[in-house]
Amino acid sequence: MNPATDITTETEHITVLLPAGRLPLAIMDEVHQLTVRYGLEVYLTTLQNLRLLNVPKTATTEIRARLAALGAEFKAPGRFPIPRACVGGPHCNLGLIDTKAVSARILARFADRGHTKAKLKLALSGCILSCSGTRTSDIGIVATRNGYDVYAGGKGGPAPKIGRRIKKEVTEAEMLAAIETLIDFHDRKTGTKQRMAKLLGDPDFPFAEV
Ligand code: SF4
Repeated sequence: MNPATDITTETEHITVLLPAGRLPLAIMDEVHQLTVRYGLEVYLTTLQNLRLLNVPKTATTEIRARLAALGAEFKAPGRFPIPRACVGGPHCNLGLIDTKAVSARILARFADRGHTKAKLKLALSGCILSCSGTRTSDIGIVATRNGYDVYAGGKGGPAPKIGRRIKKEVTEAEMLAAIETLIDFHDRKTGTKQRMAKLLGDPDFPFAEV
């Protein structure tokens, strides 16, 4: 049998979501045990999640169940995107907000959303240096000294784009409302998947540049 074929047909990967890039110790401990037992690799993704590579398909159900029992949640189609967050305050001396706490409040606000269409990414940074790529994400939230700036339509990839600032120095409630408007708009205008950048030129785009 072709070894390459063997790898793709006999193994897969599992992505464990890590809000604000935090890895709970119980999950870390279990991942360590599973990695040793099954000869897995651990990859830390660019979206700050933890991906187990080379998972034998015969073990997927058991591995997911063991991690789920510890509270792990997994990447899946339609899930509201977890913001990629810089470490923020109080761990970075430039941090103006506790990014972990703000990320949790964003997730709590949108946790019950039924389905978010694919390709939408969120990023959150604790100051204007944007270490988490807030200006190159579909929705970027940047803490400033006077409130939040919100960016839309940034992207990386082969044709990178800087997001358009659509809210300047707003309150957290206004920031959350802007996220909701953007996601609702993306949902209305998207079939199955689309980057927000493609929607900036839509005549119905709900925000002007500020
Ligand atoms: S964006 Fe600002 S607060 Fe966040 S890690 Fe970078 S310098 Fe620190």
